[in-house]
Amino acid sequence: MKRDGRPGGDGSDDPRLRRQAAVALVLLGLVTLAVALFSTPWGVLTGGAPDPARDFSGQQIARSQAFDAAATLPSYLSLGLTIIVAGVLVATPFGAIVLGRLRGPWWLRVILGVVVITALAEVIRWPLGMWVETLLRDYGLSTQDWAGWAADRLKNIGVETFLLALMLLALVALARKFRRWWIPAAMGAFALTVVASFVYPVVFEPLFNDFTSMQQGPLRTNLLAMAERDGVPVEDVLVADASRRTTALNAYVSGFGATRRIVVYDTLLKAPQSEVELVVAHELGHAKYNDVLYGTLIGALGAALGAILLYLLIGPMRRRAGVTSITDPRAVGVVMGLMTLGGLILGPAQNVISRHIEARADVHALDLTKDPVTFIAMQKRLAVTNISDLSPDAVEYVLYASHPSSPQRIAMARAWAKLNGVPVP
Ligand SMILES: [Zn+2]
Repeated sequence: MKRDGRPGGDGSDDPRLRRQAAVALVLLGLVTLAVALFSTPWGVLTGGAPDPARDFSGQQIARSQAFDAAATLPSYLSLGLTIIVAGVLVATPFGAIVLGRLRGPWWLRVILGVVVITALAEVIRWPLGMWVETLLRDYGLSTQDWAGWAADRLKNIGVETFLLALMLLALVALARKFRRWWIPAAMGAFALTVVASFVYPVVFEPLFNDFTSMQQGPLRTNLLAMAERDGVPVEDVLVADASRRTTALNAYVSGFGATRRIVVYDTLLKAPQSEVELVVAHELGHAKYNDVLYGTLIGALGAALGAILLYLLIGPMRRRAGVTSITDPRAVGVVMGLMTLGGLILGPAQNVISRHIEARADVHALDLTKDPVTFIAMQKRLAVTNISDLSPDAVEYVLYASHPSSPQRIAMARAWAKLNGVPVP
């Protein structure tokens, strides 16, 4: 089992095995594409051209533009640094040199390698994070102190490092055992993504928020009644104590079947009840169309594709990165770099799918409540409170917009009213 130092000892250099992996990559890629294409509501209702000036005051538009202008530099700098760090890890022996100093059995060096590379990347990005947090506070969007902010960030990094270390341990263990390691690695990546998606709300969400069952009263009764009417059974309505971190308004539905729960940020509870109902109606739309389930399936297929792609890429990459093969614990750096770059490349595609799914949930909320007046009022409140970008430029839209912009959502509500013979607000 001592294959550490032997080049290509993991089988990813054998042309015959590489051909098999390439065929699997193409076939699985087609399956993934088909699932993504068929599960995305391409024909969802959209509105006409968005017009922020119709619904937002000059002052609100100016505030949104000022915040956007201030946040642009740190967010692009952060993106640039992420690309540079990943590029250095993939294209230079830097990672191998740093990780070459680690001692111990292979599994310990893999775990330590993940910790060291993550720590390096986070140290570089930490000041930018503080910059953004300062901006959020200046604009009244964050209610955290530095201790709370640092604790949240460290918890996030901890969860990510834990999951990543687990993945890489499994990957290296498989590569040490099997020459066609892409087969178990792809199946493992698929399974791990599915499990993480189910486990996350139960295990990791409580690290960041405390949840309490919403007290008995008309709001709780109405939300449960609405879910019932929608044919989406819900076990409970929970309130998350998000106000100790943020002023942002949000809600979501988590869990499946009998364990499904509506979660409402406590920040949202100050809004009129009809607006809370609309937010929850949107979330019920996600539940009804199984958006989380399809999202998990596409994510899991993507993870499996990533494992096969890694098998094909690690051979050509290993010399440049100064490692012998993926069974070399020093290869943790190049693998993490490739994963980061892969995630960045897939981001815009995920956003395109997400924007259509979000639009469908909006239409569902209108179908369920038949209340475009409140819908538009709520979109305004959300946009003003969260200081949303009212007219994102093309680059921002492609890179970051997981939802249609607020003016787009408002335009859609007007189109819905027209279509359904309701007075257009
Ligand atoms: Zn949504």
